[in-house]
Amino acid sequence: MATTPRVCVIGAGPCGMSFLYQNKKYQQDGDVDLDVVCYEKQSNWGGLWNYTWRTGLDEYGEPCHGSMYRDLWSNGPKECLEFPDYTFEDHFGKVIPSFPPRSVLFDYLQGRWNKANVRDQIQFSTLVKHVTYNTDTDDFTVTVKDLKCDKVTSERFSHVVVATGHFSVPNVPEFNGIDTFRGRIIHSHDFRKAEEFKDQRLLIVGSSYSAEDLALQCRKAGSSDVICCWRTKPMGFKWPKGIEERPLLTNIDGNKIYFKDGTTADVDTIILCTGYLYHFPYLSDNLRLKTNLRLYPDGLYKGTLWMTAGNNKFMYIGMQDQYYTFTMFDVQAEWACAVVRGKLKLPDRKSMEHDIQEWIKKESVLKDCYDHIKFQTAFVCDLAKEVGCKYNLNVKEVFDKWEDDKHEDVATYRDIPFTSIYTKSPGIKHHTPWMKAFDDSLDTFVNQTPNK
Ligand code: FAD
Ligand code: NAP
Repeated sequence: MATTPRVCVIGAGPCGMSFLYQNKKYQQDGDVDLDVVCYEKQSNWGGLWNYTWRTGLDEYGEPCHGSMYRDLWSNGPKECLEFPDYTFEDHFGKVIPSFPPRSVLFDYLQGRWNKANVRDQIQFSTLVKHVTYNTDTDDFTVTVKDLKCDKVTSERFSHVVVATGHFSVPNVPEFNGIDTFRGRIIHSHDFRKAEEFKDQRLLIVGSSYSAEDLALQCRKAGSSDVICCWRTKPMGFKWPKGIEERPLLTNIDGNKIYFKDGTTADVDTIILCTGYLYHFPYLSDNLRLKTNLRLYPDGLYKGTLWMTAGNNKFMYIGMQDQYYTFTMFDVQAEWACAVVRGKLKLPDRKSMEHDIQEWIKKESVLKDCYDHIKFQTAFVCDLAKEVGCKYNLNVKEVFDKWEDDKHEDVATYRDIPFTSIYTKSPGIKHHTPWMKAFDDSLDTFVNQTPNK
């Protein structure tokens, strides 16, 4: 390598932190010490896992990043996102149930990050405002704002890694007559507490993870009736009493909702679980990923390296639709580190473009969630092979069983334990069925006497 790379990582959520972690590992294994600076607009690491009560704008007038709600529990088994080099048993010193609440997962992530000792590479409360690629000098200019000091400065970097997530800027559609609605209308991005909707009749728009989980959360917290409505296809679960699905609404008149199947319903609140936009307002146009939610966004070699501009020095981590999360981010981060450090020889441009198109072709024929899981497993395993990962990251069987459980009964799937493929310790049941469990404190969850 001619000069030592200087890397800018944008965002200290799970993806950005995986980059810092993997970079540290390279260094610990004897490779050069790189100058890595991570800019994070919030005052702490964790990304979405850094829960905030705020909605709308943050304390500096910037869009609030948080989309998580107070009572969020993992919607996938922890055995599907467990780091092989830092298992849940390593962290907690014991076996814990499979579907932890938010604070437990955040604690686990922080354990691994603390171990790597990388916090000093992060500049908190620092917003990235602009990134451009300089063709003449083959580097990037990154303009940031120190939010506390209200000061804007620019720095030059040889590489940039974008890790700012894509579940933060709400997609908010318009519906006929929505301005006549007398109750509250919110997007799931601004949902924080389910008990706010106790005794209310709710309309939930959308048929994906947020719709599914908010319907259950609100019913659990005492909403009287929940109607979920779908655009493309219903979720099709066996719902507990009080939750039903209907085709999309056509019109709103006061509190009355009209649906495509000719039925109507009076509701008190509308929650739009209509997903999120990929939004990178700080990137110059030639660096900006423009996509909808998909397993293989176009233009990224190995789902990571931006092909349009940046001379193979501009990367994205975690831009995929996500079954796999933490382990996928981690292997992507390891791949990105290997590229930055010149450990991986990239093929010629034509081969990279061909590789992308092959993945996209495969994605276009997937039929159901089991196919999606198979596809993402192949994607993760391909990256693992590229970097010579010594661990087996394939948890397809766990995911498949989880999907089966959900389709069996969506209200009870979180009560079913799984076994870690790494520790092989048999899973344990949570002390209380999820629909009746209201104490989600870390202390209670970790120190429980489990139900056998
Ligand atoms: P994020 O976590 O979004 O982090 C991005 C970071 O970038 C943030 O810290 C943000 O402040 C920072 N940032 C953004 N813009 C700028 C800027 N201009 N300058 C500086 N910093 C910036 N995954 C699971 O595995 N299990 C779950 O149970 C689960 N539940 C979820 C529930 C909800 C409601 C949502 C929306 C997602 C959930 N996820 C879950 C998926 C989630 O996407 C990942 O777990 C993970 O948080 C993604 O990490 P990330 O680093 O890509 O993005
Ligand atoms: P999503 O998966 O993108 O789903 C968006 C939904 O909105 C889809 O059903 C889509 O319908 C619908 N939609 C979009 N525009 C619409 C319109 N104009 N009219 C009607 N419907 C419209 O987003 P999400 O459900 O918010 O999930 C995002 C992420 O959060 C996922 O990774 C998920 O795992 C995570 N999450 C996790 C938990 C948890 O329990 N831990 C809870 C919530 C969310 P179509 O199918 O027709 O496109």
